Amino acid sequence: MTRSLEENKQLSQLLFPKVEKTVEDYEKIYPKRQLNESAKVTRFAPSPTGFVHIGGLFSALISERIAHQSEGIFYLRIEDTDKKREIDHGIEGIVDSLKNFGINIDEGYISESDEIGAYKPYKQSERMEIYHTFIKSLIEQDKAYPCFSTTEELEQLRKNQEDSNITPGYYGEFAIYRNKSFVEIKEKLDANIPFVIRLKSTGSPDRKISYKDIIKGNMEFPENIQDIVICKSDSLPTYHFAHAIDDHVMGTTHVIRGDEWLPSVPVHLQLFYTLGWKAPKYGHIPPILKQDGNSKRKLSKRKDPEAAVSFYHQEGYPTESVLEYLLNLANSSFEDWRKVNSEKSWNEFPFKAEKIGVSGALFDLVKLTDVSKNAISRMSAQDVYHKLLDWSKKYDQEYYSILFANKENSLKMINIERENKKPRRDISKWSEVKEYFSYMYDELYKINDVLDFPENVTNEDIKIILNGYVNIYNHNDTKEEWFNRIKDFSNSIGFATDMKDYKANPDNYKGSITDTTTVIRVAITGRKQGPDIYEIMNILGTKKVTLRLNVSKN
Ligand code: GLU
Repeated sequence: MTRSLEENKQLSQLLFPKVEKTVEDYEKIYPKRQLNESAKVTRFAPSPTGFVHIGGLFSALISERIAHQSEGIFYLRIEDTDKKREIDHGIEGIVDSLKNFGINIDEGYISESDEIGAYKPYKQSERMEIYHTFIKSLIEQDKAYPCFSTTEELEQLRKNQEDSNITPGYYGEFAIYRNKSFVEIKEKLDANIPFVIRLKSTGSPDRKISYKDIIKGNMEFPENIQDIVICKSDSLPTYHFAHAIDDHVMGTTHVIRGDEWLPSVPVHLQLFYTLGWKAPKYGHIPPILKQDGNSKRKLSKRKDPEAAVSFYHQEGYPTESVLEYLLNLANSSFEDWRKVNSEKSWNEFPFKAEKIGVSGALFDLVKLTDVSKNAISRMSAQDVYHKLLDWSKKYDQEYYSILFANKENSLKMINIERENKKPRRDISKWSEVKEYFSYMYDELYKINDVLDFPENVTNEDIKIILNGYVNIYNHNDTKEEWFNRIKDFSNSIGFATDMKDYKANPDNYKGSITDTTTVIRVAITGRKQGPDIYEIMNILGTKKVTLRLNVSKN
């Protein structure tokens, strides 16, 4: 027996006696956005678990790009209807991650407790009244109903269906509370029997729905036939329902999310249809994968430190590097664009959502290192110095004090082979700089360490090189004078300066000028490679250079 219109109205009132506003009220409170036709509205909608997965940052970046490239709106909505997943200060972690990566939001939470924007509140747990208003209206229209089936009953139903080889679930003839009489329902309510609210499915097992996914292209699914739960027994809405209401009310035009949500699309499209609204466009991003032996798997929060965005901060990858790397993963044309647009900021890249690969990009630390070296090489010395200071202040106090106390020399050091057309690409993350430039600071460099001279130079020749060089070294040399001096010196002790001749007649020489300079470099810096040694000596000054040459030759 079905209920009359009047009975449904009464039922909605019984279920939501406190709801005073109407659907129309909310359409007024949250009016349609006044944006250009082409402007897109996107959002990042995480649960406040405090943890931001690199895949989450990936989808936030893609959503941000889609919105801001079209002069639209990108907002942050906190989806906290699953109270089990919530942690203290969970919002702050998310807000900080976005902020640190320079992903700017136009609306939503800007700190643990502050939010901006005309469509607030941007946290689902504070939007209960809105959800209840819409559920109340669905009940009134006979599009939703309370269901009193217990977990045990539903379990039994499933078992019976499986035994009879029919699709399991709560649908059609099995949806026993769909058409209960008003009297029966009222009895249950009066007896305080717990209930959920289900949406009456409009789906049919012999029909399909199709839609065009922004990323995956044309998709087709069987229609959803299940009467899904839209409101749980604790009166919190389910994710499915809350997202539909919010995305409509907040004017979202494009929903970008992980492809674990793909199977929910039939349910979501049905929700929008039943509510009488145009559904947003959906784009489902494949997960970032990791090579594990011979197979590929999702980056795991538990097993892989690089799954957490905090990892990149701790290691000191500049945010630009991570963003550029992610843009690379999303659009392979980024790399070529970057080559011809080295001066531009990453956010000038013409990003295309439809060019995102459908099969899941492979996370590659070597590639990130490469992208990051490029990104850092393009930075000014001042920029690098300040970023290093910021990083070390948080993660390496000793290094922070040294950098702070030696500003002038640190800047000179950072500027070696930088701020030119073809800058040196040697640093990929801030955590490696302390060791890389350790020879610049007495506090970090132990000159008595055993030195690793080139193997092809004999101990005797090492002594000859260092003894000779300490006598001819002149701090006032220009680069050219210095180079000529090294050349003359190398020649005088039997090391070739003409590389062609050296290659043709190696036996005529003890080695080449490269060996001479490498021996000097090792004596002064403790390593065989590094930036321009003339510049290094210039910054270190006569006293340190002479001391190191003298100590090393013994
Ligand atoms: N709250 C959902 C999650 O935590 C968001 C899914 C969506 O973006 O629609 O994954």
